[in-house]
Amino acid sequence: MKHLINTKALTVVVLSALMLGVLFCYILLSYRGVELFKQNNINQQNGLAADDVIPVSHEFHLVAPDHLRYEQPSILRGRTDVVTVTPWLAPVVWEGTFNQVLLDSIYKPKNITVSATVFAVGKYIMFLKDFLETAEQHFFVGFKVHIYVFTDRPNEAPQVRMAAGRQLTVRSVPSSKRWQEISARRMELIQTLIEEQLPNRSDDYVFCLDVDSKFHGRWGAESLDGLVAVIHPGYYKDGRSRFPYERRPASRAYLAPGEGDFYYCGGAFGGLLQEVHHLAKTCRSNFEADAQEGIEAAWQEESHLNRYMWINKPTKVLSPEYLWQDFKPQNPEVHIIRFSGVVKNYAEIRPNARESAAD
Ligand code: UDP
Ligand code: MN
Repeated sequence: MKHLINTKALTVVVLSALMLGVLFCYILLSYRGVELFKQNNINQQNGLAADDVIPVSHEFHLVAPDHLRYEQPSILRGRTDVVTVTPWLAPVVWEGTFNQVLLDSIYKPKNITVSATVFAVGKYIMFLKDFLETAEQHFFVGFKVHIYVFTDRPNEAPQVRMAAGRQLTVRSVPSSKRWQEISARRMELIQTLIEEQLPNRSDDYVFCLDVDSKFHGRWGAESLDGLVAVIHPGYYKDGRSRFPYERRPASRAYLAPGEGDFYYCGGAFGGLLQEVHHLAKTCRSNFEADAQEGIEAAWQEESHLNRYMWINKPTKVLSPEYLWQDFKPQNPEVHIIRFSGVVKNYAEIRPNARESAAD
């Protein structure tokens, strides 16, 4: 008898639990149904198919705020004095090709961080103050910015007031007796920085910049893309046979006559973290393999970068507005100088300038 009551009680408990479970599932599903319905309505308003709820990559999904008013883009009028697209259909950024209000409205809500690396080894520390102060005024103003300074003189790093959301990290690196080595080691340090400090941030960007330069105009969201290269101001009117690529086939930076698109700067490049990581890693290992065989490319990492960009086409190309040289007069097609190398006395600031001048 007792056994029978126990069985009955157990059945009641099991059945009630089952009914409660069914009720719970029903409520949960109908709630999710309402949420999906709401989402579908939003998607439909924004032109997405009702069942298109697959998450898209942040990089390629550009959401503009509703009701933003800006000048109507023309499909007929625009810059005609310069080329604004490469043969592989990457944009070439010149003043007059983009709307900065629109770009800021698209990129600011993405909450990205834009990092910059800059090397100030030996006497080059003297350029750091102007670089940092002008970056405050022009480089990704209003964005989260993290500048990494690599120097052998951390105590001499200047104190620069940085706006909210912007920060500076100073990392110690060994000094060197050869400027070629300092220049070349940048790739290795960029590679390890991305591996150690900036991992798993697939939406973030990094730019690698020369320190002997100042910002004079906006450098902002128009420069963001997967792999970004800057056209060198010294060669953009020349034929490719005049580009100072590495011409010895023994080097891994070799480009044969008839090869090469543009001559890109070693003093400014960037893009998404994983793209820049791949670039830095490749250039570093090619540079080191060359060194093992006793060969150093004509312009060190700039030569390797040019080789890299020949094979791995940049997804966005920045015009020489993004790295001019102060000693060059401003050409008419350059409507604004955004970043420019200062005039410097090589003999005074490079550790082995005299010896290398004789090379
Ligand atoms: N650099 C440095 N110390 C040196 C030589 C070079 O910190 O003694 C770094 C610095 O960031 C510099 C970059 O390497 O901007 C490239 O060298 P440099 O500007 O002299 O090359 P250039 O622009 O004249 O070709
Ligand atoms: Mn420089």
